[in-house]
Amino acid sequence: MKIEAIRVWQCDLPLREGRYSWSEGKFVEVFDATVVEIVADTGLTGAGEVCPLGPFYLPAYGPGARAGIRELGPHLIGLDPRATGVVEAVMDRALLGHPYVKSALDMACWDLAGKAAGLPVATLMGGRFGASVALYRAISQSEPAAMAENVAGYRAHGYAKFQLKVGGDPATDIARIRAVAGVLAPGEVLVADANTGWTSGDALRVAAAVREVDVWIEQPCRTYEECLGVRRAISQPFILDENIDGLAAFLRAHQDGAMNAINLKISKVGGLTKARRIRDLCVALGYPMTIEDSWGGDVVTAAIAHLAHSTPERFRFSATDFNSYGTVSFADGAPRRIDGRMAAADAPGLGVTLRAEVLGAPAFVIR
Ligand code: MG
Repeated sequence: MKIEAIRVWQCDLPLREGRYSWSEGKFVEVFDATVVEIVADTGLTGAGEVCPLGPFYLPAYGPGARAGIRELGPHLIGLDPRATGVVEAVMDRALLGHPYVKSALDMACWDLAGKAAGLPVATLMGGRFGASVALYRAISQSEPAAMAENVAGYRAHGYAKFQLKVGGDPATDIARIRAVAGVLAPGEVLVADANTGWTSGDALRVAAAVREVDVWIEQPCRTYEECLGVRRAISQPFILDENIDGLAAFLRAHQDGAMNAINLKISKVGGLTKARRIRDLCVALGYPMTIEDSWGGDVVTAAIAHLAHSTPERFRFSATDFNSYGTVSFADGAPRRIDGRMAAADAPGLGVTLRAEVLGAPAFVIR
C-alpha cells in the first residue's frame, strides 16, 4: 500500500457557547481546523485533523498547519501509510519541530492502518478498557457566579469533572474556585487550570487561599521551572499540560517529581504515534492522563476516543469530546457523548467518514 495523494481542507468550527475564554484575556470564537484525507493506491482513505486553540495558546496556528502540510506532504507520497513508525521518522527528518503540522498526517495514517487491518485504532493501540470513557467539561472563564451556574448546566449533560479556566486576577480566581466548589456534588472532580496565566507568586496566593478546597492545580505558570517551584511549595495535586510538549519534557518532569498527572494533547506532541508512546510510559510510571488535543472537531474527537479507550481506566484521568463544543459536524461516525461519556467506534480505523457536502472542495491536493 502506498500514499498516492493528500487532500487538505480548511474548516471553520464556531462554538455553541459563542466564545471560549481562558487566561490573560485570551479567547476564540471560531476555531480554524485543518482536515486531511490521505488517499492510498488501493483506494482506501484515511482522515486526520489538527485544530490549534487560536494562534496564542501553543506555538501553532491554523494557516501554519496548512503551510506545514504543504511542505511536508510531498515527502509522504509513495510511503506505506500502515508503517506509522517509518512515516514518523520521515516527517521528523523532513521538517524539524512543528509537531502540530505532523499530527493530522500521522492521524490519517493510523486511520488507514486500521482500515487496512480491518480493526479499530483502539485495538491497534492495545485494546479497549471498559465500555466507555468519562469526559470532562472545560468551563470557560467568566465571573465566579456564572462559572458555578455553567457547572450546574453541564452536570445535566452527565459530566462529573470540571476544569475551570482561571489564570486571571488571583482574588477573582480564588472566588471562582470557591464559587464552583460550593456547588459541586459528592464524587465530582474540580481542576483549576491557569493555562500559564499566573506568576509563581499569584499561584502561591491562590493555592494557599483555597487550601480547604478539594481541587487540582493545572499549569499555573509559563515556564517549567516556575511550575516546579510552585509544585514543591503547595499541597494540592498538580497537573502539567503546556510544558509537557514531548517525551523528553515528560521524562524530565518525571525525574523531578513535577506532577501527579499530565494533559496529553495529541497535536502538542506530534500525533497519535508519539502520544501513544508517552501514554504507554505514563501507564508504566503511574501517571493518570487527560487525553485530548488543543482543540478539534469530529476527527480529533474520534482520535481521542481511540487513544483514551485503549488506556487502562486507572490512568485515564479524563478525555474531551471537542465535537460537542462546536456547531459544525464534518464527519459521520464520530463519537457522540452519552451521559458524560464516549466510546471509540467499532468500525475499522478511526470509524469516521468525511462529509463532502460540509467540507466542499479541498483547499489543495498534494500528489
Ligand atoms: Mg490545560
